[in-house]
Amino acid sequence: MPEMLEVESYRQIASRALGRRIEAVEVRDPWFVKGGIDPDAVVAALRRRRFVADRRIGKLLLLDTDDGSTLGVRFGMTGVLELDGVDGIDGLAYGSTRRDPAWERFIVHFDGGGSLRVRDARRLGGVELDPDESRLGPDATTVDRTTLSDALFGSAAPVKARLMDQSRIAGLGNLLTDDLLWRARIDPTRTAGSLDAGEVRRLHSAMRATLRVLGRRGGSHTGDLQDQRHRDGHCPRCGSLLQRQSVGGRTTYWCPAEQI
Ligand SMILES: [Zn+2]
Repeated sequence: MPEMLEVESYRQIASRALGRRIEAVEVRDPWFVKGGIDPDAVVAALRRRRFVADRRIGKLLLLDTDDGSTLGVRFGMTGVLELDGVDGIDGLAYGSTRRDPAWERFIVHFDGGGSLRVRDARRLGGVELDPDESRLGPDATTVDRTTLSDALFGSAAPVKARLMDQSRIAGLGNLLTDDLLWRARIDPTRTAGSLDAGEVRRLHSAMRATLRVLGRRGGSHTGDLQDQRHRDGHCPRCGSLLQRQSVGGRTTYWCPAEQI
């Protein structure tokens, strides 16, 4: 599913739409408009405007218009952003690349042709006008060790669940979190507040390394554990049989020999 690395690639293609005048907006699926706003209000806010800035906080894409409103886009489990017929990321490992017109939920048409489309098979994503950005923690790429330490401090939640809590740190999803905990050699079921200073330091450098390396490889599905995410999966480092269990509501894989 799209995690922050995928949404970052969507932001990059959306940046090519900056400055173009919006001619029309099609809300193909009214359910896709979130925040209790009438779909017509979203259309009215965007029509004849231009996007002037592209931003991203965690998994939320933000496009600011020239009259000060902001379109927020969330991609749920299967969302894809397409600009002028080109997808933000090639060959999504987590979903079909099929272009079923029924999956097109929201379309922005620009003057002179071209369009920005949100495709979402399972429609767990959505668009929102002026989303409340204060509900998100800092983007994971900007989190320093102190911020990470504060996010974990005193929490009785499993460290994995805390890392995926978007109000604490924005952007980490299931795959990125499993990979970074594996790199840090920390058991995902550990209580977040139980990590000592040395473990927080290790976790922080593993988080940075995971984002950098997987970003370069092409997405959250390119992690070292990815090929082993099945019942008989083994640790790519030491060869132990991976443990598989639901943690924080998500299927989690880790190496019981090394992650303690
Ligand atoms: Zn191992």
